[in-house]
Amino acid sequence: MKLPVIGIVLPCYNEAEMLPLTTSQINTLIEDLVARNIISSNSFAVFVDDGSKDATWPIIAQKAAEYNYVKGLRLSCNVGHQKALLAGLNTFMDEADALISIDADLQDDIAVIEEMVVKFKAGTDVVYGIRKERTTDTFFKRNTALLFYKLMKQMRVNIMYNHADYRLCSKRVLKALAEYGEVNLFLRGIIPTIGFRSGAVYYDRLERAAGESKYPFRKMAAFAWNGVTSFSNYPLKLVTIIGFVIFFICLLLSGYVIFAYSLGHVVPGWVSTVLPMYFLGGIQLFCLGIMGEYIGKIYLEVKKRPRYFIDERVD
Ligand code: UDP
Ligand code: MG
Repeated sequence: MKLPVIGIVLPCYNEAEMLPLTTSQINTLIEDLVARNIISSNSFAVFVDDGSKDATWPIIAQKAAEYNYVKGLRLSCNVGHQKALLAGLNTFMDEADALISIDADLQDDIAVIEEMVVKFKAGTDVVYGIRKERTTDTFFKRNTALLFYKLMKQMRVNIMYNHADYRLCSKRVLKALAEYGEVNLFLRGIIPTIGFRSGAVYYDRLERAAGESKYPFRKMAAFAWNGVTSFSNYPLKLVTIIGFVIFFICLLLSGYVIFAYSLGHVVPGWVSTVLPMYFLGGIQLFCLGIMGEYIGKIYLEVKKRPRYFIDERVD
């Protein structure tokens, strides 16, 4: 069988401190996999400079000249991790049979890349890298991450537990991904919706070897919220449900008001004040919910997501 060409895509933002180590380790890994006839010698690693303000790009350019398997891609400005990753995937999908995405800080163990490739050769289209334990993360990071997955589940967003953006995607999955035109990217939510055969490899998350996290809590919260609002209309559904419940309560209250009025135990003016209030309040929320349902539909339509992908065909 022909050896697969594997590309590794690493988005980098201000990773000058990390790069000497990362480029050398990744290059050695590819050398080793090529030498052992696991992947083709056309395989490569591409470091995507996401508009860094430090020496990231000069280092990438220098390492690309120094190492056989290292390439570089420089974006015009900082677009964020997800878009930088997509830029790398889209640019190089035609030059490889599969691309593996991984962070440049080597927190995700590159030792399992071999296992990913083996699974890919066995016919798996998407191989998810899944963290076994989060012992190296801080208490805060661990728990906010847990909260993140819980929230996603509550909001009906389909993502893999403890999987970030460390994964292998086959060429046809990358082609499918390229058909998604959305601007609010949340890759780990899109990939499962593409389908095809998937598998997983498990690894221990390591500590960042140098530099610091580019994802402070503020950015992480924004990312999570983007995940929910890009993938789920559930918050809008909640409005409908709450609207309906309140409408119902208001109806009961109105009944009570009329009942109290019929008994005559009321202050003059009370009925004519609270009755329209309850009634209008209930109707308003209910209508808001119904509008939400339509806005949700419009939202799904404007994204123009592909409706299906074909796996196989026999004649
Ligand atoms: N990154 C990027 N653009 C950004 C922010 C981060 O390309 O605007 C890259 C960063 O260089 C790293 C990866 O995304 O390779 C993940 O970032 P980081 O390790 O800081 O996040 P954490 O692991 O702490 O969540
Ligand atoms: Mg990291």
